[in-house]
Amino acid sequence: MATSKVAFTLRKGDEPIGHTFHQLITPGGMITFHRPDFQAVLLLHLSSTSCRTHTAKRLKTYLYGQGSASKSESSLLPIHLHFQDGTTATCDLLIGADGVRSAVRATMLRDLATKAQSEGHTQEAQEALAGVDPVWSGLSMYRTIFPSQTLSQQLPGHRVLHDPMIYVGRNTQITAYPISRGTGINFAATRSHWEQENTLFEGPWVQDVSRDELLHAFDRWEPEVVALFQSIEGLNRWAMHTVRPLRSYVSERVALIGDSAHAMLPYQGVGAGQAIEDAFLLATLLGHSVTTPATLSRALKVYDAVRRPFSQHVLETSRENGQLFTLNYPGLTFGTPQENRDAKKLQKLQDLCNRVRKNWEWCWLTTLDADLERAVKMLENGSQ
Ligand SMILES: Cc1cc2nc3c(=O)[nH]c(=O)nc-3n(C[C@H](O)[C@H](O)[C@H](O)COP(=O)(O)OP(=O)(O)OC[C@H]3O[C@@H](n4cnc5c(N)ncnc54)[C@H](O)[C@@H]3O)c2cc1C
Repeated sequence: MATSKVAFTLRKGDEPIGHTFHQLITPGGMITFHRPDFQAVLLLHLSSTSCRTHTAKRLKTYLYGQGSASKSESSLLPIHLHFQDGTTATCDLLIGADGVRSAVRATMLRDLATKAQSEGHTQEAQEALAGVDPVWSGLSMYRTIFPSQTLSQQLPGHRVLHDPMIYVGRNTQITAYPISRGTGINFAATRSHWEQENTLFEGPWVQDVSRDELLHAFDRWEPEVVALFQSIEGLNRWAMHTVRPLRSYVSERVALIGDSAHAMLPYQGVGAGQAIEDAFLLATLLGHSVTTPATLSRALKVYDAVRRPFSQHVLETSRENGQLFTLNYPGLTFGTPQENRDAKKLQKLQDLCNRVRKNWEWCWLTTLDADLERAVKMLENGSQ
């Protein structure tokens, strides 16, 4: 059993004198990675003989079972891939790991909608079409990484140099923690407009913005947060998009994994982790001796039955954590800092911690192993 460690310290920071109100202690605490470091490790282990990587191809669409001569043959016909550069390729199995704006998801759901419509299931068709495009969550996130040394110069001994921090505020939130063995600080500040959730976002999703925009959005925050702002050089603003919960992640011999299936808000920091769990479980099912070209769709159905409920639960609780961190959870809202001086404030913050912990505890109380075992049994027993 891993030693208990502080994963995050929670602090209310949207007032001149902030205060720490909770330490989220978990087995092992939080382990942070800078994404390129992690990707470099994966790349190092890709087999150069069995894997061919094309980094400049963009899938436009795919056609399933094209050229089908008879019903009995159709399950073995290749899937035709059409790329934006005009080239094509074929495959027996297509796994869409192409992110929140997935071309695989778009094709899969449009095909399902056409089929549902032709069978007179209008509502099902509309539901499928609603999942094609990602939706704006109403949240924008300011992101950057800066050297720890710069923060040390701004405020020597700043707690973010050694402690992962979540600062909460009304319609605003900041996560900051050391990465790359303490040499850098990962900084992410959210501005929320929950009333605009599930709308279309006008303009580019990621934009370079000035520090002044951040300072304006985070007016009157406490000095230690201002020290973080002062350490920032370049800054991006991200419009945070999600995928509406899908009815299925698979269709025949096509599967969606990761953000293409369940792009979620990052308030449990687990979107990439969920993508990796999808991939690991799916790879185990595909590599199992009972899986053959003829039974591929069975393996995909088991993947869907096991991973979809779990990842959609994570998606929902990540959203709830976002509401909690921006002090916007239904029944648990906060007024302006000035209005918040009543005795109920501490109780509310305590309720907030309890909910955050409850939402997040799957992360340290469960592992993928039990689901993996269940999935393999389902595959072996022929059940979904
Ligand atoms: C602001 C923010 C903070 C986050 N913080 C965390 C965190 O702390 N921890 C965490 O675990 N997760 C975090 N996430 C979530 C995480 O980034 C995603 O869940 C993860 O990257 C999903 O991986 P993926 O491989 O499914 O998709 P992606 O990482 O989006 O990769 C998709 C790939 O497909 C390629 N692609 C796209 N379209 C096509 C096409 N048509 N044809 C071919 N290729 C295509 C893209 O170029 C890309 O390489 C955060 C997300 C955001 C937005």
